[in-house]
Amino acid sequence: MSRVYNFSAGPAVLPEEVLREAAEEMMDYRGCGMSVMEMSHRSKVFDDIIKEAEQDIRDLMNIPDNYKVLFLQGGASQQFAAIPMNLMKNKKAGYIVTGQWAKKAYQEAKLYGEAIELASSADETFSYIPDCSDLDIPDDLDYVYICENNTIYGTKFKTLPNTKGKDLVADVSSCFLSEPIDVSKYAVVYGGVQKNVGPAGMVIVIIREDLIRDDVLPGTPTMLKYKTQADADSLYNTPPCYTIYICGKVFKWLKKMGGLEAMKAHNEKKAKILYDFLDESKMFKGTVRKEDRSLMNVPFVTGDADLDAKFVAEAKAAGFENLKGHRTVGGMRASIYNAMPIEGVEKLVEFMKDFEAKNS
Ligand SMILES: *Cc1c(COP(=O)(O)O)cnc(C)c1O
Repeated sequence: MSRVYNFSAGPAVLPEEVLREAAEEMMDYRGCGMSVMEMSHRSKVFDDIIKEAEQDIRDLMNIPDNYKVLFLQGGASQQFAAIPMNLMKNKKAGYIVTGQWAKKAYQEAKLYGEAIELASSADETFSYIPDCSDLDIPDDLDYVYICENNTIYGTKFKTLPNTKGKDLVADVSSCFLSEPIDVSKYAVVYGGVQKNVGPAGMVIVIIREDLIRDDVLPGTPTMLKYKTQADADSLYNTPPCYTIYICGKVFKWLKKMGGLEAMKAHNEKKAKILYDFLDESKMFKGTVRKEDRSLMNVPFVTGDADLDAKFVAEAKAAGFENLKGHRTVGGMRASIYNAMPIEGVEKLVEFMKDFEAKNS
């Protein structure tokens, strides 16, 4: 068996320990004589799996009791519609547009009400986070929306926007469980799990209970109503059982690693190795304003598209996979999520130094 260093932005690298455990349990989950993929989602065995997963993420993120944790299908993108449908009481919401995912959410919200762009960093190709300390926030705004870590552009909100008392909704897909957050500062925190937590096919929604209501926008599909899902403890219909099971294993792994404080230290150490190199290199340059750099997604360029392509091809041949930047921005991007070991980043930097020496 040989494993590569996988820098994919998502679906992305998972802890080897988790994959090995899942492999061992594939044919016979703990004496059940079947795989978790094959069992009823109404069985006692699966009920234990989903309950334990919920408890573990609650412990890890220190989720207050007045928040529900929902395990839902449809990925993060489905939430771009579910959020306005459930939360737009006044049919007015504010969006901070810091990249493609925020923009997609903003455009989707326009289908359901008035979506206002409160701030944007489009003027400099989303290479920074706009100042959100004193936004012009209308009184009747239902919520303020952010994409906390911008997967494609590699920026991250280091301080949350001042919402002036309005509810904050955050897409944390690509920084999920990468560091501690204070859940009580958000009304809704949600993320697709395939970036940092598990296999594709699920979004985890952490939502304050008073926002789970019956009076959603007319026409909201039953499945998209948070109340439907909350009342059924995420078992309204068949949930993504196997994904929930793997996420549960990742939560256990995170606990064993020391929780989110330890994960943050680990992620800071990893990111520093790469950013320090980008700052000293004459060939490779980071594309993001230093104070807004993401710990998870690190875009960089040489400034020469042919050289970029050569780098990506040679890196792949040397066992560093998925370093090509997003198709819309070009260059390179190294996604260094929780499960990327420190050696992966060290070896990548060695490879980059070597490439630079040979090509300049
Ligand atoms: C990947 C990503 C999405 C889209 O996730 P899907 O699960 O594919 O819908 C949304 N937001 C962010 C920040 C992402 O990184």
